[in-house]
Amino acid sequence: MARYTEAKCRLCRREGQKLFLKGDRCYTDKCAYERRPYAPGGAGRLRKKLSDYAVQLREKQKVRRMYGLLEGQFHTYFERAEAQKGVTGANLLILLERRLDNVIYRLGFANSRDQARQLVTHGVFKVNGRRVSVPSQLVRPNDVIEVREESRKVPVIMEAQEVIARRGCPGWLESDGANFKGTVKALPVREDIQFPINEHLIVELYSK
Ligand code: SF4
Repeated sequence: MARYTEAKCRLCRREGQKLFLKGDRCYTDKCAYERRPYAPGGAGRLRKKLSDYAVQLREKQKVRRMYGLLEGQFHTYFERAEAQKGVTGANLLILLERRLDNVIYRLGFANSRDQARQLVTHGVFKVNGRRVSVPSQLVRPNDVIEVREESRKVPVIMEAQEVIARRGCPGWLESDGANFKGTVKALPVREDIQFPINEHLIVELYSK
């Protein structure tokens, strides 16, 4: 059955980069960005020079959309990152990576962060043996994330596990797909986030 799949793909086309918002489809030749790598709308193919502000704004939007956050939520993470010791931009990305929905996506128990968020809300996972339902929960070293036994046959989880080999699991996490478990080995560091992001542009934007 045909499905409407365009809206998320428009975000990738708007940001000029694949944001991997649609799971397995993003790795196929059905990817809308691969087919039309220019911004949506009539003027999408026109190349125009962006102002410094526009470049900073686009970078922020890209990261915000990648993690599926609203503006207010994203800004709250920024404030938290700013209050921490160290480099604000790196702190921000590390906080975003530690979100439970992101970790579940990274471990291969969901095909996208959006899907992970829905599964968490539906109580599909346990963290350290306790059922959780808050996708924004931040994971800590040695946390064990597990699919509840009753939910192990959920089709989207089975499908996602087949795809993880293509995406790979970052070094700060350990995936034990056969036992529907994953462990946080350590907190992520900036180098663990391979996706091309210029976080200093976000810091500049919010520092105006
Ligand atoms: Fe759509 Fe491609 Fe973006 Fe995935 S990476 S959301 S398929 S445009």
